[in-house]
Amino acid sequence: METIDYDSHRSYSDYVKYERNITKFGWLIFLCLIFEDVFVRSYIAKQPFVIEIVVIQGVLLFFSITISIIKGLEFKKNEDNKRRSIDLMKFIEVVITVCLISTLYHSVFFYFVALLPITFISLTRGFEKTIPFIVLSWMLQFISQYSVFLKLTNAGIPCIMDNGLLFAVVITIQYVIFTVFCYIWGGVYNEYSRSEEENNILIDRLGDKYVQLEQAKKEIQNQYDKIIESNNRLEEANKKLTASLAEFYTLQQISQAITSIFDMNELLKFVNDVIIGVMGVYHSTIALCYGPQNKLKVQVSSIFDKKDLAIVSDYINCDTLKPSTEEGHSMIDNNVNADDYPFTKGRNIKSMICVPLLAKGKTLGIVLIEHSIQNAFDDENMRLLEVISQQVSIAIENARLYQQMHDLATLDGLTGAYNRLYFNDKFQEEFKNAQSKGHDLSFIIFDIDHFKKFNDTYGHLFGDLVLKTLSAFIMKTLRKEDIFARYGGEEFVILMPYTSLEQAREKAEDLRIGVSQLNITDRVVSASVTISVGVSTYPETASRFQELISTADDALYEAKNAGRNLVRVAKKRR
Ligand code: GH3
Ligand code: MG
Ligand code: MG
Repeated sequence: METIDYDSHRSYSDYVKYERNITKFGWLIFLCLIFEDVFVRSYIAKQPFVIEIVVIQGVLLFFSITISIIKGLEFKKNEDNKRRSIDLMKFIEVVITVCLISTLYHSVFFYFVALLPITFISLTRGFEKTIPFIVLSWMLQFISQYSVFLKLTNAGIPCIMDNGLLFAVVITIQYVIFTVFCYIWGGVYNEYSRSEEENNILIDRLGDKYVQLEQAKKEIQNQYDKIIESNNRLEEANKKLTASLAEFYTLQQISQAITSIFDMNELLKFVNDVIIGVMGVYHSTIALCYGPQNKLKVQVSSIFDKKDLAIVSDYINCDTLKPSTEEGHSMIDNNVNADDYPFTKGRNIKSMICVPLLAKGKTLGIVLIEHSIQNAFDDENMRLLEVISQQVSIAIENARLYQQMHDLATLDGLTGAYNRLYFNDKFQEEFKNAQSKGHDLSFIIFDIDHFKKFNDTYGHLFGDLVLKTLSAFIMKTLRKEDIFARYGGEEFVILMPYTSLEQAREKAEDLRIGVSQLNITDRVVSASVTISVGVSTYPETASRFQELISTADDALYEAKNAGRNLVRVAKKRR
């Protein structure tokens, strides 16, 4: 804050300044007056030389010089003590001056010199302060003048003041006139000092107001700073809140999708769209790990350009993404160099984040987001993508576990065909379907011929290999809608919707021939098997569910009896 100099002693300082300049050379004036007096007495008044007068004058001159020196030193001293010592010196000065003037031949004419310091007092300190000095001066003049007059008269030297009474009157009149002048000058001083006093009061008040104003300004500035600070904090909190809300909404959407979308591909597509929507990215791609080498395969992507998608698919397994795919770390690069990431070549990608999809420490895949501008992503984006990825990973893991459980519950562990339990459920469902819609439903049952012997000859393990090889062959040959199951031991069944008896027979025949031509080998053995097949069809050979099974079983029995490696169809209903 600026400071103001409230100098209430300005008048006194000015006074001191003028005083110093004028009285500095007072002794010089005295010296001139002494010379003048000697000259006037000796050459004009033709008086004899009186040594006492000159000695007195010399002593007074000495005092005058001393006072001048003391005054000079005094001015350099501390301001507070100045006024008193200056007053004392002023007093001494008046005494010396009056005494010296009294010794002069033309003293009456030179009294203005004695009165000069008093004039200054009246001008600078007011009339009242001047009165003691006037009285002092008047008395001193009377005394000293009279003593000089007596001295000269005793010495028989004529004097300008021979008439004592006249002298007294002249001196007194002089002093009266001088007093009037001092009174006028004192009035000027009073006026000046009053207005100065008022000014000082005004300045003081102004100063107070200024200080108050400065304080108020400071206070307002402080409040303003605080408001700005809390506003910034509020904005920051608001930003965070909005971001958390968006994040919360996104995660809610994803978890909702996880519970409502059962198709994994559809779920990933949805998640990919959400990522694009929330993060405003250029492209988002989800790739999953497959096979024993855990190779990434693009599962869903927003990249619509086929060429670009091919580039990403080809180079997604590049070394630079290994920190994500192999070590499970998230990666962020806001200044992508296409040489480092081959999947960005020629695709105008400048920023990217790659976050692994992790489950139980295993990498299931990655989420890759890309942008065409530099510095498009920050740590907050990466954190959000990590949270989304965690959810997606859980969904993928759950889906895989579900698939495993489903497989365990429905598939035969050795052959991969459906098990009998699942088949029976499916069979009833399909039979009802065929019944209600009135379409054909064929049932094929087959059994490996002389499998016991086969087992005995080549061993149980090789028998297992036969079952697996035969099942794989059958599954490969069937349509998507056909249901193939292991019915028990070396007995298998096939359910074929929308298939007539003849079509089923033909299919059975193909399978029989196909199986007989299978060359089953392991390291030491090479063998082949045949099957006997029974076929029945709703509604041609059976009208009820159980009937369909029993008629097919009968046909199989027939095939066995007829010599094996044969297909037999159930007899048509009458
Ligand atoms: P047929 O031509 O009359 O059907 O003669 P078969 O020997 O095939 O008939 P059988 O019912 O007497 O024998 C079935 C054999 O199938 C008995 C069993 O050792 C074998 N078998 C059943 N399940 C398995 C299996 O899971 N693995 C192996 N290796 N053999 C099995
Ligand atoms: Mg058999
Ligand atoms: Mg059998």
